[in-house]
Formats: sequence, structure tokens, C-alpha cells
Amino acid sequence: SKKIETLRVAIRDIPDFPKPGIIFKDITPVLGDPALFCAAMEFFVEKAQEAKPTKIAGIEARGFLFGAVLAKELGLPFVPIRKKGKLPYKTISQSYDLEYGQAEIEMHEDALQAGDRVVVVDDLLATGGTAAAAAALIKKVGAEVAGIHLLIELAFLDGRKSLSPHPVETLLVF
Ligand code: AMP
Repeated sequence: SKKIETLRVAIRDIPDFPKPGIIFKDITPVLGDPALFCAAMEFFVEKAQEAKPTKIAGIEARGFLFGAVLAKELGLPFVPIRKKGKLPYKTISQSYDLEYGQAEIEMHEDALQAGDRVVVVDDLLATGGTAAAAAALIKKVGAEVAGIHLLIELAFLDGRKSLSPHPVETLLVF
């Protein structure tokens, strides 16, 4: 549609950021235009409503922007999933592989209960490693992944493969 095309062209490519060979998809033009931010949120709201979650989890940092607004729109609790060492209370953690080395994400141990249905929100799906680690955290505490919803998908990296069998929804596929 026209709206999706307007969003697509607003995403700014930044070559060689944060390191050589990476084309960074900059979403700040979307945040900086209320009509575009609204269009992006319409996607998140529609997909989340279909998934019938009990809670929304956002992945640091850009997943917080869309995830927190989504939680507020739906009247649901928001759960931050953060990089290691940032959350102040007792955490559970999950490590995952990066191209070089490893990373770790954490969630407060009391953020979810068994039986919760969680929609995971982030800005972009690349290899899928981050979202897969978030899904693993959610399952560790006996909660269910109702969906993994991202604004942008880099299809050539085939990140969806590592998220099976969870339902994955993306709006802009590059
Ligand atoms: P991955 O774990 O490989 O799917 O990477 C996804 C995470 O890294 C998300 O939190 C994204 O915000 C970030 N990311 C990875 N690649 C890019 C990119 N080309 N542009 C912007 N953000 C990216």
C-alpha cells in the first residue's frame, strides 16, 4: 500500500555503521514523523491484537520504542529485555552467538508468569539470534511466545529460520 511504501522510503541506509560491511537501517526518520510513527504503530497494534497476548516484551533498545507504545495502546504490561548488566533486580539470562563472539540478554525473573502469552517486539530482524534468545528467555519461565513482531526484515539473512515455530510478523522486507 501507499502507507507501507512511504514507510519503506523513510528508512535510511547508513553504510558501514557500526562497522565496515554493515548497512544500518536507521528508523529515526520514522520516529521523527508522527504520521510515519503512527503508520508503524498501526502494524504493531493490528498484529498484536491477532496474537492475543497477555504481555508485550521489547528488546533493547529500539524494541522499547515500539514495544512500550504498543503495550500502552493495548493496555498490557510492558517487559524490557535488556543487554547483560542493565536490569537492577534478579534476572534470568540467555546467551547467543554473534558473528564474532557471544552476547547475553536478560529479563527480570518476576516479569512473566507461566501461562503468559508474550508478543516480542523489535525494530529489525537480521540473523534472528537476538529474537531467538528473547524467545528462549520467555520459554525458560514457562510462558508462551505469541508472536515475534518487527518493523523490518532483512530477508537475505534468513533470520526467520532460527525463529521457527514461532509466528513472525514483519512489515518492511528488504
Ligand atoms: P539479529 O540478532 O542478527 O537478528 O540482529 C537484530 C538486532 O540487531 C536488532 O535488535 C536490530 O536492532 C539490530 N540490527 C542488526 N542488524 C541491523 C541493521 N542492519 N540495521 C539496524 N539494526 C540492526
